Amino acid sequence: MLKNGADYLEGLRDGRVVYVGGERVDDVTTHPGFRNAASSYARIYDARFEAPFREILSYEENGERYATYFLQPRSRADLEKRTKSCEIIAELTYGMMGRSPDFVGGYIAGAAMQPEVFDTGSHKFASHVSSFYEYCRRNDVFLSHAVTPPQGTRDKKMYQREAARVPALGVVAEDSSGVTISGIKMLATSAAFSDEVWIGNILPLAEGHENESVTCIVRPNAPGLSLWSRKPYERYAVSEFDNYLSYHFDESDCIVVCDNVKVPWERVFTHNDIGLSRQIYFRTPAHTLSNHQAGVRYAAKMKLLLGLARMITKSSGIETVPAVADDLGHLAALYGMMKGMIYGQIQDHENLPSGFVNYNRHYMYSAIYFATQHYDQICAKVRELSGGSVLQMPADVSVLHNPETRGLFEELWQTPTHSAVDRFKLFKLAWDLLGTDFAGRHLQYERFYMGPAFVVRGHNSRECPWNEIDEYVCELLDRIKPGNLLVHSPTEEKARERYRAPPMPVK
Ligand SMILES: Cc1cc2nc3c(=O)[nH]c(=O)nc-3n(C[C@H](O)[C@H](O)[C@H](O)COP(=O)(O)OP(=O)(O)OC[C@H]3O[C@@H](n4cnc5c(N)ncnc54)[C@H](O)[C@@H]3O)c2cc1C
Repeated sequence: MLKNGADYLEGLRDGRVVYVGGERVDDVTTHPGFRNAASSYARIYDARFEAPFREILSYEENGERYATYFLQPRSRADLEKRTKSCEIIAELTYGMMGRSPDFVGGYIAGAAMQPEVFDTGSHKFASHVSSFYEYCRRNDVFLSHAVTPPQGTRDKKMYQREAARVPALGVVAEDSSGVTISGIKMLATSAAFSDEVWIGNILPLAEGHENESVTCIVRPNAPGLSLWSRKPYERYAVSEFDNYLSYHFDESDCIVVCDNVKVPWERVFTHNDIGLSRQIYFRTPAHTLSNHQAGVRYAAKMKLLLGLARMITKSSGIETVPAVADDLGHLAALYGMMKGMIYGQIQDHENLPSGFVNYNRHYMYSAIYFATQHYDQICAKVRELSGGSVLQMPADVSVLHNPETRGLFEELWQTPTHSAVDRFKLFKLAWDLLGTDFAGRHLQYERFYMGPAFVVRGHNSRECPWNEIDEYVCELLDRIKPGNLLVHSPTEEKARERYRAPPMPVK
């Protein structure tokens, strides 16, 4: 059953333990560091009941309606519907909330498309995955994830350093009812706002760290679990007017700390299997469905950056200067490339043996690589086009509260085309995305959310159709017969003569 915003917010008042430094947050729906982000998520839940969004954001099956990110695609139309749903959610948050419910929603929908992957010689967990998927879509669950083992526990072959015994999350006990986990996991974005946290390993673990190879689901209010948040930028936003994005869309990032947290077997998906704990993301469509969302969300953010760049140049009266127009054209081209890469994933989709379809995995990873490699560059270009404009506004909105400063501000900060207040709004918005603490976090997020660059290149290499490419080159090489090489054109002969010429004497 679909939840609305109020149902969703009510679910967050469950006694979960969230720390900001030494402060314990009692209720993320009212705390000044979290409440507006909680409302932004609630908005996504409400949108599914509104006419323009309803048909895209939800689907019907056997008389029941579910969120579209739980749709397991069987046709191109299903893939298109998933993409459109991600687009709507991303645009509701201007691309600022990477781990909205449609991200990890894609994990469970994708994993449950090939549950047999979770049955091995030692463990039969396929039914756990299938029934948890049903539970998620029926209860409209918001999942977040912590799948990054802390630095120092990873595969030596890949990370070229010995693994250490750091306090990484792992199984410390097991019995007939389930496993007990302790330790920490990086860096669960949106966990403070989610209903369940998916714990796992997207990076390869070092040999001997089998107890860390657990994939399981925990509730944020589980006894022994706490979420340790970084600085919440929402709390430090001066006002909605000054920092619209930090004020509304700080999705938060938390270290997940588990101290003897009990997990029943039906919430365990992998255990004591280092290889499988990572392969589940690639041997099923889990990683592709979720990270297709990441590309769509990124494009929504690019749209905002592109629009800001254009408005800033217009407001400065430079948009027709050829060099500036050229820069805008460059940004427009990057935006078009990203959109093209998203829709290419549908065009060249994959047919899976089970009757399901999936986005094109290789194109998906290529789009993410493009995204991670260009975000700094895009922001730098928008900053360059902005010049000092983004810092010429008075300190904060209080300038409008004092009649004396307001009068002078409105008179002296206006331009022939823009009022002082409109310029204040534009430049403050741009700076929130380019220069604040919130903006700095986004630079780091866009670079690392799928892992460091060499890991993303590894995904691309794994999914690249090397056989087809090798055959292509081999076929060409086969065409080139030794006899052909003996026939040289006169130009080639002249070039050969030049190479044979003795070196010039040194004077
Ligand atoms: C804002 C933000 C939000 C995040 N949200 C989530 C989340 O919701 N869930 C989650 O599970 N994780 C999340 N992460 C964690 C993210 O997955 C990791 O940061 C990412 O996998 C990179 O790992 P790392 O930070 O340990 O960096 P490292 O892997 O330690 O890399 C650090 C640097 O060292 C370089 N490096 C290290 N080893 C090598 C090597 N062998 N070859 C070449 N270069 C190397 C890397 O290229 C990189 O530049 C988030 C991270 C950020 C920054």
